[in-house]
Amino acid sequence: MKIGILAIQGDFELHRKMLSRLNVDTVLVKSPADLEKCDGLIIPGGESTTFIKLLKVSGLFAAVKQFSQAKAIMGTCAGLITLARKVTNFSLETLDLIDLDVARNAYGRQIDSFIGEVALHINGRDTSFEGVFIRAPRIEKTGQGIRSLAFYQGDVVLAENENILVATFHPELTEDTRIHEYFIRKIQAKIQS
Ligand code: GLN
Repeated sequence: MKIGILAIQGDFELHRKMLSRLNVDTVLVKSPADLEKCDGLIIPGGESTTFIKLLKVSGLFAAVKQFSQAKAIMGTCAGLITLARKVTNFSLETLDLIDLDVARNAYGRQIDSFIGEVALHINGRDTSFEGVFIRAPRIEKTGQGIRSLAFYQGDVVLAENENILVATFHPELTEDTRIHEYFIRKIQAKIQS
């Protein structure tokens, strides 16, 4: 299995480190040709406005949309914004691959970044996860086909549909590999289906 990490901007190196700890091969994706080699894709944290601009310039905007029809994609923070249906407080054309309405930079300036205990419900278990939130978006509405997998103070912070997994926080900034492992299993399930 090879997992692509969008490497046009943002914290792609941290996702790469996490996946190499899990012994998964990675491809740094900068073009549609790179994406063709991948079984799954991660869109990292960074700046969603920059992602959208560079996705368009590189031809990846259409390629990622096509890719999502058969393969799994994970987005963290700005990656989530890039994948969401709609940004409510800013005009941005997103990939519209998961039915979520999100507000950018929604947790206020004074607490732009914080660590909070997230209640995680994956693999049939209720546990907690250290959520690192950096100028994080807030999911304001979950729509069609969404499963909510984690919560922070009543907000959904990890969600999925059939092919897409998104977090408003940064699992790649912790030592905890559980969310990446969950994504790997999602890719495996796609390969087998
Ligand atoms: N605020 C950034 C955005 O709107 C996201 C920040 C992040 O990815 N840590 O894209």
